[in-house]
Amino acid sequence: MVRVHIFNGEGKLVGPVESPRVELTDQEWKKRLNPEQYTILRSKGTERPFCGTLLDNKQEGVYCCAGCGLPLFSSNGKFNSGTGWPSFFQSIAPDNVAMHADETHGMVRVEILCARCDGHLGHVFEDGPRPTGLRFCLNSESLTFTPADNLASLADPAAAAGKASAAAPAGQGTATAVFAGGCFWCTEAAFEQLEGVTDVQSGYAGGAAATANYRRVCDGDTGHAEVIRITYDPEKISYDQLLDVFFDAHDPTHLNRQGNDVGTQYRSAIFYQTAAEKKAADKKILRLTETRVFSEPIVTTLEPLEEFFPAEDYHQDYARNNPDQPYIQHHAMPRACQIREKHSKLIR
Ligand code: FE
Repeated sequence: MVRVHIFNGEGKLVGPVESPRVELTDQEWKKRLNPEQYTILRSKGTERPFCGTLLDNKQEGVYCCAGCGLPLFSSNGKFNSGTGWPSFFQSIAPDNVAMHADETHGMVRVEILCARCDGHLGHVFEDGPRPTGLRFCLNSESLTFTPADNLASLADPAAAAGKASAAAPAGQGTATAVFAGGCFWCTEAAFEQLEGVTDVQSGYAGGAAATANYRRVCDGDTGHAEVIRITYDPEKISYDQLLDVFFDAHDPTHLNRQGNDVGTQYRSAIFYQTAAEKKAADKKILRLTETRVFSEPIVTTLEPLEEFFPAEDYHQDYARNNPDQPYIQHHAMPRACQIREKHSKLIR
């Protein structure tokens, strides 16, 4: 299964929802696709520039995968790059377009693929226009176009089931995410200001119950990291957006250290709870690495969450309750402000 965004019977994009992967034999693909589509999607071909049928398409509507019908791009994100291939500065939903390092032809590029059928779409480059600065370079043959007044025809059977799964991955319309990024006083303050985040709790993860207390965790030999557990509404903020904030809320290139806080309890870690979270985290790290957002390698570990242990009461809402404390003023507040500026659209 993959978690993707799809259209419902009313022509509205909904999700993320669980949709089965499309896995066909070579023979079946040859039957389903025309030879040009097969060459691009299944053999990673590239069409000649200025020849694609969708290059000059200026109609409003949605571009779907020619292999499996998954919506991939919208006319809202299309621009004229002058390269001769249909170009977009953003996908219709980040979940729907997978990225992956491609070192063929003596170049290092980032290949883009349909997240549901693994069909090759093209590549993504960092020379696109604002606001993303990205250029998704597509082959027309990998796409089919549906005009805006006919989006209901894209209705996906998973949409009906999807409503429930999108609304309640963890029950009651909420989900949780657990991250470690140094002192929990700081990360808690960074996430508490986000729209869709209903609660952030400081705690410990990675070690045993017997040592899940501040005094023992400070010794640095318990396996625990200082973590935050974020409770959020996935209809308002996605796990992927939380990951974006996470990587800006601390320095993921420092091994077992954030500033003057040193020890494995201050490691950078994502405690994933599902395969989908692990995949999203892997994808995010790959993306940040490929686009060289950080000058040093990311050392963030991905660890399965065994159990989250809430920290002592006095650690909860620490920044809010202790705004004059020098550590909060010098570390937590500047980070929280940076997040406010950089992720202004996510702030409540
Ligand atoms: Fe596809």
